[in-house]
Amino acid sequence: MTFVSRVTGCYISPMRKGIAVSPGVAVGTAYCIHEIFVNPDTKRLEDSEVTAELAAYEAARDRTSEDLNALRTKVEGQVGRDEAAIFAVHEAILRDADFTHKVRGWIVDDRLTAAAALHQLLNHYTSLFTRTRDNYLKERVNDVRDVIVRLSAHLSEVLKPDTDALEGPLIVVADELLPSQAVALGDTDVRGIVTQAGSQTSHAAIIARSRGIPAVSGISGILRQVTTGDTIVVDGREGIVIVDPTPETRSAYLKLEREFVHHRDELAVNRDLPARTSDKVSLELLANINGVTDAKTAAAMGSTGVGLFRTEYMYLTHPTVPDEDEQFDNYCKIVDASPNSTITIRTLDIGGDKTVPYLGHHHQEANPFLGWRSIRLSFEHPEFFSTQIRAVLRASRYAKAQGCAIRLLFPMITTLDECHRIRQIVRRAQQRLAKEKKEYADVPLGMMLEVPAAAIAIDTILPVVDFVSVGSNDLVQYLMAADRDNPKVSHLCQPLAPAVLRLLTNVIRTCHAHSTPITVCGEMAGQPKAFVLLLGMGLRSFSMSAAFIPTIKELASRVSIAQARSILHHALELKTTTHVKRFMTDQLRRLSPESEKFDST
Ligand code: PEP
Ligand code: MG
Repeated sequence: MTFVSRVTGCYISPMRKGIAVSPGVAVGTAYCIHEIFVNPDTKRLEDSEVTAELAAYEAARDRTSEDLNALRTKVEGQVGRDEAAIFAVHEAILRDADFTHKVRGWIVDDRLTAAAALHQLLNHYTSLFTRTRDNYLKERVNDVRDVIVRLSAHLSEVLKPDTDALEGPLIVVADELLPSQAVALGDTDVRGIVTQAGSQTSHAAIIARSRGIPAVSGISGILRQVTTGDTIVVDGREGIVIVDPTPETRSAYLKLEREFVHHRDELAVNRDLPARTSDKVSLELLANINGVTDAKTAAAMGSTGVGLFRTEYMYLTHPTVPDEDEQFDNYCKIVDASPNSTITIRTLDIGGDKTVPYLGHHHQEANPFLGWRSIRLSFEHPEFFSTQIRAVLRASRYAKAQGCAIRLLFPMITTLDECHRIRQIVRRAQQRLAKEKKEYADVPLGMMLEVPAAAIAIDTILPVVDFVSVGSNDLVQYLMAADRDNPKVSHLCQPLAPAVLRLLTNVIRTCHAHSTPITVCGEMAGQPKAFVLLLGMGLRSFSMSAAFIPTIKELASRVSIAQARSILHHALELKTTTHVKRFMTDQLRRLSPESEKFDST
């Protein structure tokens, strides 16, 4: 396919177009991470070979365990304890009784080789989990795959490519970057990430954004097209990947990369400057985080607090359900990493279509996104739910002593009744803590506004919530009836759609009329075009991936409130998403041409 770059204006070929998941440009040497199950072993064991095969499996298991320990130590030293925790999860999977029982059973009863038994185990778990549409749970399946791949490598003596032997900055190319692969890269000079699968919310995308690495996802078959050592270009703004670029294309992109890095470094200098518009109206630029490391990055990028802590990740990188004390410790660590800030902790937001093992949830649903997920699931697990609430209330006391404040946010609120019920549950948790003489402090209680019914009737709900945070990722998918992870309907799932802009204008106006604080914490808050429109609607609090904060701060300093209002006024008259996008592209080119390159709406 031949394509004209929007940025360089030159024809580029061959190129692949995918989903832009983390902005920036990088040119480097490909480092392909292949899975090793290309040809499953079909050999059947002789009776006399079974014992030796079991021993080979045990030996591979021990070596895998040694690997995991070594990686844990390395990553703990180079990156941090939280990232290293994933290896404890993998150790637990490796030692899982069912896992071992199945492999041994297939070797002994079916005479499969250990490699073939592992292949069968992988298929077993994959078919169990592929039906899920819950991205976080999909990542957990990746953990199982990760362990199986590592074990198989030891059985077949397949050696991992040695990154030290490769020249220059690396571009990682993988099917889906597995969690341990991502952290095991440690301090390797990774400049870009390309994946065959994945979406805006996949693990690779989250890691890339939190580290400020350009990334493109959803390029099917790229691993067949690239070999380790090839030169490769990643353009995370246009979602383009170019393999073996021509000398002209390569130098055009190297120039863009230098400009991008220069621009990013220049913006980083603004880290300690207050976020405000050109007419000096102060803004709150908060960070969306998944854990302590993100909180540290966010503070370093100039965020003034945490607008959304997605606690799901804490559960999924923990070998068992984290108990109240473990959660409390984790929240306190986030407080320590976010001096003098407000930290918004969202209760567990998972569920829907599949097994959540520790919640004993074992049934399939026809429409998981419209089903038993999020707060709906929490209500039916009161013990589990109140453990999290108690940990947050206790951490709130700690936060206050450190000059910070914690807010508690509840996902996927649909009705007023749910808010009453939450208040009652929180009150009960407080009473119990008081009775047990455990120290705690009150927290403001907020709702995620991501269901259209709640958005339309927001005036009736506001009297019982202390703050609102708009989850635009879900709100847009529900409003437009277009799955946020399905590329076939991505033309509909658009935050700049006229219906979305009208609804948000109304919601923000209503919150102001009730003097209820409102933040937008969906991806659109960090997208330059949407940011200007939200500013025009009166929004003053924005929460985004930390990597977007410097660009948004710079853009804010170039726009006045009057300009943003007049841009919004015009945009609201436009009847199609395409017209809104076109109009906003022109506006950004006028206001801040650099920021336009960071927009992927
Ligand atoms: C959202 O829906 O916009 C949001 C911030 O929550 P999540 O992406 O975790 O669903
Ligand atoms: Mg959501």
